Amino acid sequence: MSARLVRVRGLVQGVGFRPAVWRLARELGLDGWVRNDGSGVTIAVDGEKVAEFIARLPGELPPLARLDALEVEACGALPAGGFAILDSAGGAVATAIGPDAAPCPACIADLCDSAGRRWRYAFTTCTHCGPRYTVSRGVPYDRARTSLAPFRLCPPCAAEYGDPADRRFHAETTCCPDCGPRLRLIDADRRELPGDPVAATLARLRAGGIVALKGLGGFHLACDARNAEAVAELRRRKARDEKPFAVMGLNVASFAGLAAVGSDEAALFAAIEAPVVLCRKGAAELPGSAPGLAWLGIMRPAAPLHLLLWHEAAGRPAGTNWLEEPNELLLVMTSANPGGEPLVIGNDEALERLADIADAFLVHDREIVVRCDDSVVRAAPDGPAFIRRARGWVPVPITLAGGGPVVLALGGYLKNTVCVLKGGLAFLSQHVGSLDNVATVGFLEETVEHLLDILDIRPDLVAHDLHPDFPSTRLALRLAKAWGVPAVAVGHHHAHIAAVCAEHGVDGPVIGLAIDGVGLGPDGSAWGGELLRVDGAECVRLGHLAPLKLPGGDRAAREPWRMALAALHALGRDGEATAWLARRHPGREAAPLLAMLARDVRCPPTSSLGRLFDAAAGLLGVRGAARYEGQPAMELEGLAVGHGPVAALPGGYRVCDDGHLLDFAPLLAALADSDDPPGGAALFHATLAAGLADWLIAAVDRQKTSKIAIGGGCAMNAVLLDALRYRLAAAGLHLLEARRAPPNDGGLALGQAWVARRHAAGA
Ligand SMILES: [Zn+2]
Ligand SMILES: [Zn+2]
Ligand SMILES: [Zn+2]
Repeated sequence: MSARLVRVRGLVQGVGFRPAVWRLARELGLDGWVRNDGSGVTIAVDGEKVAEFIARLPGELPPLARLDALEVEACGALPAGGFAILDSAGGAVATAIGPDAAPCPACIADLCDSAGRRWRYAFTTCTHCGPRYTVSRGVPYDRARTSLAPFRLCPPCAAEYGDPADRRFHAETTCCPDCGPRLRLIDADRRELPGDPVAATLARLRAGGIVALKGLGGFHLACDARNAEAVAELRRRKARDEKPFAVMGLNVASFAGLAAVGSDEAALFAAIEAPVVLCRKGAAELPGSAPGLAWLGIMRPAAPLHLLLWHEAAGRPAGTNWLEEPNELLLVMTSANPGGEPLVIGNDEALERLADIADAFLVHDREIVVRCDDSVVRAAPDGPAFIRRARGWVPVPITLAGGGPVVLALGGYLKNTVCVLKGGLAFLSQHVGSLDNVATVGFLEETVEHLLDILDIRPDLVAHDLHPDFPSTRLALRLAKAWGVPAVAVGHHHAHIAAVCAEHGVDGPVIGLAIDGVGLGPDGSAWGGELLRVDGAECVRLGHLAPLKLPGGDRAAREPWRMALAALHALGRDGEATAWLARRHPGREAAPLLAMLARDVRCPPTSSLGRLFDAAAGLLGVRGAARYEGQPAMELEGLAVGHGPVAALPGGYRVCDDGHLLDFAPLLAALADSDDPPGGAALFHATLAAGLADWLIAAVDRQKTSKIAIGGGCAMNAVLLDALRYRLAAAGLHLLEARRAPPNDGGLALGQAWVARRHAAGA
């Protein structure tokens, strides 16, 4: 009477789940079998300790497995004869491909075992680590469908692969120096350089060179982060003059003095996903890595290939003790995506597209099938907050509260991602990028195709942004037409709030604060500081920030000095604007802009909070022109962090028009007269938080719901969010925030998909 069938769903294929089951069943002396099938894994067990087996199973998962559901039912007695791993049940196989994972401790130990077969081998993996998503061509996940297919396992590797007791049992990407890929260092003239490729790469980096390294999801450009000239040269060659670079180091101790790494940051740094973790800068600074910002992005060696560089720097020690020691080697690791085009992944492509940037190329013959950038996260009070969600997390789905039709959402324009809803799961793609060049639009199409392939589905519905001219919108309409399915347009800020609702399983109305750079509102104007009431497919605008004019349209979004003049104009201070501008931004001409503002030509209004940040940066003289998107706001945040918290400006804002309008004019006036940029930046953040909190609290009273959600790019601002959370908590309110997807436009597709599904359900 003890026999049981156990059905398990989640990420349970290709992650060493069956051998883990096999080991536990054998340990408990059970009879039965385990096999993969269409929905996950099915286990049949019989014996005295079945109950103990079921109780212990969830706690003994291999590191990469994730359990979404476990169902148990009684079944007929099983024949005695031990426990076996059976072949797949045939038919449709569950489609879960795991994400890429940094080397596990056991594989690192293999790399450092001078007597072992994998001593210093850059492609060492097992079922607990290594590439998955980026080497997979399709489903089911097996070696023949990965880029390891051309490498035939040698007899010792084949023996490990076939042994359920080995951690390389069915490790689809396993290999060794005898049978697997190999490294080569190539110079700019395409000649293979003699000697050990790792040692030669390190020597070049130490001599100030720039080397293109083939990582998991694409190439990085690397240089010595302590060498100011090398970093400046990389910026010059990459034409990236100020955007921050991430820095790779062996361990947290190696960043002592450079980054303030708390326990939350340390845990993220060590995580198997190996993301870039944003940390407060320390007292010392690396030259040119994150100029003008309060934060430094740090990352651990994400692949064995990276780790070998540090192993070499440590003098090729045997054993693993060296891993805990600080190591002085710090490398800038920036995505090799020249000109904002997609990440370089192919060897020939690297030699061509990076010819003017890299001095040498550390390449190998394991093909990268799918591009995937590094993920970027920041520690937040309730877990990591994504700035970019890519390698390590993709394609792990986000769990939804319920099911519905299959939806494909195409996302926005900047930081584009796409999303597929399948049953109760949302599959958000890796970061695709800004759709401002043909190559990235091509990558968007590839991403859609690959995502639908590995999920093995066709959508019932397609969702897209309201903006008719986005390449993502055009692709959505084309696909919907080709498939003969409806297309649903979703407002930008509706989607921002909906993304947060989706991950938190919100049902029913929520008050949403969407704070953002810019997005097209249903009235055709540029929104970005919106108080919304979102109820499924319905979205009502309850209020917005007092609009500022954008003198010169899009140019104003790149030139904060223009927003500063627009603010002075709004304050009725045109008369003093010319003298003010000459003081704050010498060399800029006020007259043409003031004429435009006065006559209201080429001055579209916007309620965007992002532009309010620009205005503040311009008014304080922090920055006249942005070198990259979001720079003025990030610099203001940095100044506020350096200054420390202050009280909000009394009377710094007005809530008018029965809560419909929130106006920060008094605050802007104070900033225009301030000669203290750090103090002004702190005052700006504190007063914003106070105004937004009051606005939300009043809306909660009026709307009779206490659910509030925040979304949009400005929700990445840690200073603003800390202050806002604090004020809302004092009023007994809890803010729902984006934690599974980025709050910025990288999470838009999730919200679009959720709204489209609710739309289809008539809710
Ligand atoms: Zn491993
Ligand atoms: Zn081998
Ligand atoms: Zn947005």
